[in-house]
Amino acid sequence: MSLNPVNDDLKAALHAELPTACFKPVEPRYLEEPRGQFKGVAGLLLTPKTTVEVSKIVAACNQAHVAIIPYGGGTGLVGGQVAEDLPAPVVLSLERMNTIRGVNKADNVIEVQAGAVLASIQAAADAADRLFPLSLAAQGSCQIGGNLSTNAGGVGVLRYGNTRDLCLGLEAVLPDGTIWNGLKRLRKDNTGYDLKNLLIGAEGSLGVITAATLKVFAKPDRFVAGFVQIRDPEAALELLALCQARLGSMVSAFELIDRQGFGFLKETALPVRLPFENPSRWMVLVELGVSGDFDVEAAFEAVLTDALEAGLVSDALIAQNESQRLAFWAVRESIPEANRLIGSISSHDISVPVSLIPEFIARAGELVLGLGDFRINCFGHVGDGNLHYNIYPPQGRDRKDFAALKGVVTAMVYRLVADLGGSFSAEHGIGRMKINDLQTYGDPAKLQAMRAIKSALDPNGIMNPGVIVPL
Ligand SMILES: Cc1cc2nc3c(=O)[nH]c(=O)nc-3n(C[C@H](O)[C@H](O)[C@H](O)COP(=O)(O)OP(=O)(O)OC[C@H]3O[C@@H](n4cnc5c(N)ncnc54)[C@H](O)[C@@H]3O)c2cc1C
Repeated sequence: MSLNPVNDDLKAALHAELPTACFKPVEPRYLEEPRGQFKGVAGLLLTPKTTVEVSKIVAACNQAHVAIIPYGGGTGLVGGQVAEDLPAPVVLSLERMNTIRGVNKADNVIEVQAGAVLASIQAAADAADRLFPLSLAAQGSCQIGGNLSTNAGGVGVLRYGNTRDLCLGLEAVLPDGTIWNGLKRLRKDNTGYDLKNLLIGAEGSLGVITAATLKVFAKPDRFVAGFVQIRDPEAALELLALCQARLGSMVSAFELIDRQGFGFLKETALPVRLPFENPSRWMVLVELGVSGDFDVEAAFEAVLTDALEAGLVSDALIAQNESQRLAFWAVRESIPEANRLIGSISSHDISVPVSLIPEFIARAGELVLGLGDFRINCFGHVGDGNLHYNIYPPQGRDRKDFAALKGVVTAMVYRLVADLGGSFSAEHGIGRMKINDLQTYGDPAKLQAMRAIKSALDPNGIMNPGVIVPL
């Protein structure tokens, strides 16, 4: 299978089929990604407005054996949205396919085009008195097509599931240009192979998602958030169990925060208000979504008092108003930016069974600190067993000095994760960054099935080549 660069014949064919508005000069942002590890190439940037236009583009590229790189908000963290080392491909940006088609309140469904920005979907659901619970720090720029293609997680997974769990139906253009209309609003549909769930998490390697039907939920009347200093990661799990036993499904987020995260926020002078002057080593940010007259503040306070008496918790603040609640979240959501500014030697988006989180943290810490005086920032969605485990140089040193250690550290962390029955990619996907890791840590039968699926659906290998399945 060999790929061709975009050439004049393909350009002429596309100009004959598409309106001028679909052609846009390639700006640098389409060739960059947030971690700065990949630099893309593009022969042409196309911005279709309709599914039929996407279909024409894909069919023409398939015929010409030219690669297509689907591009959403460009916030993906594994380099799936930028192709290097390929014959100049078509970058296909969904940015103009951003229509929110409407909320069906009886079915609790919102229908959107794939280029709709996540925050605008949340706002549309909110305007219809519903909640669309997918929530992550990149929500102002990432698109639902990108969220679906990476099966994004975020902070609401504990209560509502990840993007896959929120999706009822898809419309997509398959690699030969065929349009698949699977925009159903059904919660039960056992009719053979699940194409929807194959495309979700496929990172653009099996087709272009063009629209989706998504679940929305009754909007909680209010949210209550607490920033809690805890004894250690075991105490985090005990507190989670206590909260879930006493507050049930109201518990919608449970985020572990490492004191190192506060240190990085101070060091980078990001404009956030830290809730504690002298924080303990470990903290959690807990959020409850509440409806009805239930006095959740009192119930939460009672849980925290019991946890204090049991020695799990040393101090806690419950947000007294909406601006304080948002300030708590600003701290959590600024940590990735502070991390980026500090610059990691290596970072890991891992998951292990929830019960093994303390063991992972203890054993990984021993291994990493055995290599040198590194700074570790370990934070994330502890209620889902998903941690972002990132390693930084000692203060005043540059990460470049430790570049040679990156592979060693990553292999150590991933081997430990495998040992504990975990995943080396919990919510960010494989992209181009983790393609070799997938070959190393993936199950051989699954890898073989994935290769077979890829070559059956995309025999010319035009859809996002080099992502998930090696070239
Ligand atoms: C500050 C920050 C915080 C983040 N927090 C989280 C988090 O908490 N949880 C989490 O899971 N992720 C998180 N991410 C990662 C990122 O936001 C998600 O992966 C997001 O879902 C990507 O969406 P996007 O539109 O930016 O996709 P892009 O980056 O444009 O693309 C991602 C992948 O999807 C493919 N793709 C995009 N659109 C389509 C489409 N319509 N059809 C087919 N393929 C497509 C691309 O080719 C690429 O392979 C974070 C990123 C940042 C920068």
